[in-house]
Amino acid sequence: MNQSLTYLSDQIWSYAETGFTEVQSSRAMCEFLRNEGFEVTEQIADMETAYKATWGTGKPVITFLTEYDALFGMNQTADVTEYRPITSNEATGHGCGHHLLGVGAIAAAIEYRNYLKENNLQGTVEVLGCPAEEAGSGKAYLARDGYLNNTDIALTWHPGLFNQVDTGSSQSCISVNFRFHGVSSHAAGSPHLGRSALDACELMSVGVNYLREHMESTDRVHYAYLNVGGKAPNVVQSEAEVKYFIRSTTNPKVLKLYDRVINIAKGAALMTETKLDLLFDEGLSNTIPNYVLEDVLADAFNKVPAPVYTQEELDYAQSFKDTFPIENVTAPQHAKNKTELQHMIKTHPLHQGVAETVHSEDCGMGSTDVGDVSWVVPTGQINTACYAFGAGAHSWQWVAQGKSALAHKGMLYAGMVLAHAAIELHTHPELIEKAKAEFKQRLGSDTYQCLIPSDVKPHLID
Ligand SMILES: [Zn+2]
Ligand SMILES: [Zn+2]
Repeated sequence: MNQSLTYLSDQIWSYAETGFTEVQSSRAMCEFLRNEGFEVTEQIADMETAYKATWGTGKPVITFLTEYDALFGMNQTADVTEYRPITSNEATGHGCGHHLLGVGAIAAAIEYRNYLKENNLQGTVEVLGCPAEEAGSGKAYLARDGYLNNTDIALTWHPGLFNQVDTGSSQSCISVNFRFHGVSSHAAGSPHLGRSALDACELMSVGVNYLREHMESTDRVHYAYLNVGGKAPNVVQSEAEVKYFIRSTTNPKVLKLYDRVINIAKGAALMTETKLDLLFDEGLSNTIPNYVLEDVLADAFNKVPAPVYTQEELDYAQSFKDTFPIENVTAPQHAKNKTELQHMIKTHPLHQGVAETVHSEDCGMGSTDVGDVSWVVPTGQINTACYAFGAGAHSWQWVAQGKSALAHKGMLYAGMVLAHAAIELHTHPELIEKAKAEFKQRLGSDTYQCLIPSDVKPHLID
């Protein structure tokens, strides 16, 4: 089984398909799950590459979340310790390890299913095929459209540098394009007849950069120019577009900040006599932590033996560690024994053993669509070490190590830990009730309000 799982992750590594185009990757996963006896529904929630695979019946329903999208500009030859794209540096690659993430979740589902089958137990195992994590918010649509409504517990993981339980929250985020339309004209001959869309983008940037003085310190706003209106200074730019990410710690806060940014965009349009189109792109909710599940996952880490590496594998890891200034690698924020870990970072090629996590409510700077799932159902997450100490996510080093024994071992380890957590929850249904009680208490009177408006369908803006 382990061999066919690693083969599947290698296949997805090679496909390297970006958000909403993961056709071969999702098909390969669906075929694998069908062969394992899962009932698979493809193309759910208006997403061609989303799927749901189910095995068994009745309660509890435990859902393992997958990801399988790659990144643009992350093409890299496997196992090479220098930046060397296979095709071009524009091409795609698995710089975030989602080929491992998806298959690790499948490994967990199969291991848990085997336990139910061998012991003739009732229970439903689900694998939710979640596309477009990097851009597209696949899970937010699945959560919004009710694909987790029957789930009791959701479990997932992310490849990383450390073996640890994930804790804390993540930022709510809205991504939106501001498209300005003006009037072109000869910039010297008849400038008075032109209305510049580029001026509108620039004035909007000025306004937003003054806004920074009056935001909360944990708020973030960043932008990229998608269309600057051409290359000719002697033409008044009639079309221009800028993309914004707007982040805050909670959904109500991000919606308020979003309104303030919209007002600035309207002001820029008014000042320049241009027309503004607002194109909603993505909405990601903050993550609701669950300490009960964190404890169950910590317990599972203690039950599953951590990977053991051969000298050859350790040497391989060291060769990648040497490609990155190690002083930039720090112990995870919520690790209990940071000093010990910092020492291991200096002396070892990769993390061995488990880093104990201290529960936290802190909001990390960054966003994930797992947040939306965590608003609908108690959700637990772990990380496992799949790469040498050194470069972090979205680096050529991660792509290069993506098919290595380190990556495979970390992926299978994650699968076993998640499966053991599921078995523990099945054996002790009171833990599921406790996790649900904590979930209810954390939400209080709040209900899940997906940041994506109900009329917005899964899409990518060109
Ligand atoms: Zn990523
Ligand atoms: Zn990722």
